[in-house]
Amino acid sequence: MFDGDLYLLEQFHFHTPSEHTVDQRHYPMELHLVHHNERHEAAVVAVFMEEGKHNPFFETFLEHAPGKVGEVIDDHEHTVNPMDLLPKRRSYYRYFGSYTTPPCHEGVIWAVMHDPIEVSAEQIKKFRSLLGHDNVRPTQPLHKRFVLESQFVAGSAQTK
Ligand SMILES: [Zn+2]
Repeated sequence: MFDGDLYLLEQFHFHTPSEHTVDQRHYPMELHLVHHNERHEAAVVAVFMEEGKHNPFFETFLEHAPGKVGEVIDDHEHTVNPMDLLPKRRSYYRYFGSYTTPPCHEGVIWAVMHDPIEVSAEQIKKFRSLLGHDNVRPTQPLHKRFVLESQFVAGSAQTK
């Protein structure tokens, strides 16, 4: 829920390195959970992924990911719950931006979680070799956009 509007999760994907930076610092990876509301407005929840503990969710994803670009795997056996990918603390930075892939349409609500989740060095390496190249849009200047920080309150999100 964002501002009383229901957004449904449509897809999630990963970037390497991170597309967002905090104080100019990139993380090795970033997760994007793309949502849309009834009016087809988009909200993306971004989660930084740092090197640390092995991540079982990410492992399931890596083990069953297609080996080649363009290949599709129709997998009905392995289910994942994207909630398992979110950090425990649900506070985030929020701003209005655009999609990071062409044509980079604007009007996207971005919520970038404060806390990163952990994936192992080996998992990062495996994802990079699956991909074969970086898949990030260069960071954009903030211009006159505001970045808000919010506090998570049980059951809803609030802006400070
Ligand atoms: Zn993305």
